[in-house]
Amino acid sequence: MTIADSTADLIGNTPLVKLRHLPQAAGVKATIAVKLEYMNPGGSSKDRIAERIIDAAERSGQLKPGGVIVEPTSGNTGVGLAMVAQQRGYRAIFVVQDKVSESKRAVLRAYGAEVVVAPTDVEPDDPRSYYRVSDRLAAAIPGAFKPNQYDNPNGPASHYATTGPEIWQASEGRITHFVAGIGTGGTISGTGRYLKEASDGAVKVIGADPEGSIYSNPDDVHQYKIEGVGEDFYPKAFDRTITDSIVQIGDAEAFETTRRLAAEEGLLVGGSSGMAVAAAIKYARDNDLDESQTVVVLAPDSGRSYLDKIFNDEWMRANGFADVVERTARPSLAE
Ligand code: PMP
Repeated sequence: MTIADSTADLIGNTPLVKLRHLPQAAGVKATIAVKLEYMNPGGSSKDRIAERIIDAAERSGQLKPGGVIVEPTSGNTGVGLAMVAQQRGYRAIFVVQDKVSESKRAVLRAYGAEVVVAPTDVEPDDPRSYYRVSDRLAAAIPGAFKPNQYDNPNGPASHYATTGPEIWQASEGRITHFVAGIGTGGTISGTGRYLKEASDGAVKVIGADPEGSIYSNPDDVHQYKIEGVGEDFYPKAFDRTITDSIVQIGDAEAFETTRRLAAEEGLLVGGSSGMAVAAAIKYARDNDLDESQTVVVLAPDSGRSYLDKIFNDEWMRANGFADVVERTARPSLAE
């Protein structure tokens, strides 16, 4: 039978595809393959952590029948948790900042979750901040469970148990480098640890990080536009002993690569995926990787969530990326 029992059974086992144009155009000889996490049922790598975090909370008794999941998130983790909550009959409440688009809130509500909106423009310690609002809700609601993806060891553990083995098996042990963006750090720490153990330390683990994030330059932390990656603090989910090096990529280069992945490779992925691919190409070029090397890049989510931003020329121009729009423009038939 190839009919899955539930959507949870469709999490993981995402495919790997070789890039055929971008690395070659940059003079890279190594194979660069992308793991397409948008093939998960909730549309991102975060389905993996949602399932494992909820499994663990059920086992430990933190989450009981009729329980309520409360988390401050607008993004992929919210979608993963909302989907698993729906499947298991839990109520889910997400606290999001008011900068979060209506379409992202609509996705969470579509799965039956409740969305509480908090102001963006306040300090994290302000009682109105989405962190503090979620703390208060979790304390006040009987049976509430707060997954806290930044601190929860089940995030990296889910990637150690699933993402790592999948890549090792799909590449038949030929992977030499693993590249992933770092947000909570769960993906790179769990997957990287597995791949290092499986290869007796041979696989190199490379983090991709936005310009402005603490991981690549703690002395120059500032705002940036790439979503889902980079931080201004070190979360517990990030094990710094696993990454061998970190490649810094700016917004413009990440977005240009994201647009080129759609136009030249047929891969509609998000900005953190473009950033990770840009980092892989840069690393392969700077380190003269050759035909014998296989670089696997994890692409966390789909470009469909960014149609109003990275794939919108008006938004790109308004945010200082007019040159990227020009460089990735298609020749017009009218001219
Ligand atoms: N890209 C996107 C779009 C994400 O939502 C996340 C998760 N925050 C990441 C990359 C980074 O993954 P991780 O938290 O496991 O480091």
